[in-house]
Amino acid sequence: MAKKILVTGGTGYIGSHTVVELQQAGYETVIIDNLSNSNIGVLDGIEAITGSRPVFVEGDCTDIGTLRRLFEENRGINGIINFAASKAVGESVEKPLMYYRNNLNTLMNLLELMPEYGVEGIVFSSSCTVYGEPDINPIDETAPIKTATSPYGNTKQISEEIITDFINSGAPVRSIILRYFNPVGAHPSSLIGELPRGVPNNLVPYLTQTAAGIRKELTVFGDNYDTPDGSCIRDYIDVVDLAKAHVMAMERMLGENSGGKIEIFNLGTGRGVSVLELISAFEKATGVKVPYRIGERRAGDIEKIWADPAKANSELGWKAEVQVEETMRNAWAWQCRCMKNQD
Ligand code: NAD
Ligand code: UDP
Repeated sequence: MAKKILVTGGTGYIGSHTVVELQQAGYETVIIDNLSNSNIGVLDGIEAITGSRPVFVEGDCTDIGTLRRLFEENRGINGIINFAASKAVGESVEKPLMYYRNNLNTLMNLLELMPEYGVEGIVFSSSCTVYGEPDINPIDETAPIKTATSPYGNTKQISEEIITDFINSGAPVRSIILRYFNPVGAHPSSLIGELPRGVPNNLVPYLTQTAAGIRKELTVFGDNYDTPDGSCIRDYIDVVDLAKAHVMAMERMLGENSGGKIEIFNLGTGRGVSVLELISAFEKATGVKVPYRIGERRAGDIEKIWADPAKANSELGWKAEVQVEETMRNAWAWQCRCMKNQD
């Protein structure tokens, strides 16, 4: 019988791509999302790609009553992937309580209900932000956790601690914590992708909107860092590769060969790419020029960080496969599709 997975935040950016991969791998999926940062039309995209529509519950995970009803009405959920969270770093500085409430209550409600409904494990979306500015690159999972520089980052650190404390208390659940590097791109079908609201803060949506003429120019935040071309370095991971890692994590967590009650994996390509290199990759892949200028450094930016994904490679059996040019082509195709839909 197909295993049933609850995907919180499943109409969001990473969640929707993961639901596609789960369904294609034979899992049944149930999504809960309050649509605070996504829209219901995403379900059409998932259905068009996979041929089946996930069960969808519109609801808020901070409300334990809503979650309890979901578990009552959808018996036999084997695992959870918890994407539901608020994720804008700048907004978290302005509205810290909203971030702590949303991100932490969501997680605690899920954990509390798992033993009651026999849910075996939870995959949690963490971030490389927990490492702060690394002392060495590439960075592996044993690197120290640095003091968080934003309430958002702190919710990820605290969430990791909550999961650990809960499992160490003897709770009958397992967890895999995935620390993502920089997820970018869109599904190659262009049927789902990232839907930033308002002016994007992140590099790739800003870049594609600039290439499309929606923004006048892209500002490169600093070219005087201690990097080969002076711009910051990140590890950009294709969102479909990232989604596939969740399927492998779920298989491991629910399978016979689970590697223990709590495991942590970095999810990145292992390759650092600078802002200027990413712009060039986009231009090369699409043939479209990106007007840009060099601006001031952005406060709080990390100079350089990229993953050592060896543990995920060897233990999960997962490896990032999509090349950055292909990711840029998919990001651009998605941007074009979004504009066509607005016409
Ligand atoms: P997203 O905003 O696109 O998706 C999150 C979804 O959760 C949205 O659809 C939103 O409506 C929903 N949601 C938020 N709070 C909810 C609640 N209380 N109840 C029900 N639904 C709720 O974000 P994403 O980029 O897909 O990120 C998914 C997860 O991955 C988040 O936990 C995020 O912190 C983490 N993450 C993202 C990145 C990134 O760069 N995108 C990097 C590292 C970690
Ligand atoms: N960046 C940039 N211009 C922008 C947005 C981002 O130069 O308009 C840079 C930013 O300084 C960082 C990189 O792009 O070095 C990735 O930024 P993003 O906000 O996408 O991710 P994060 O800072 O979380 O790694």
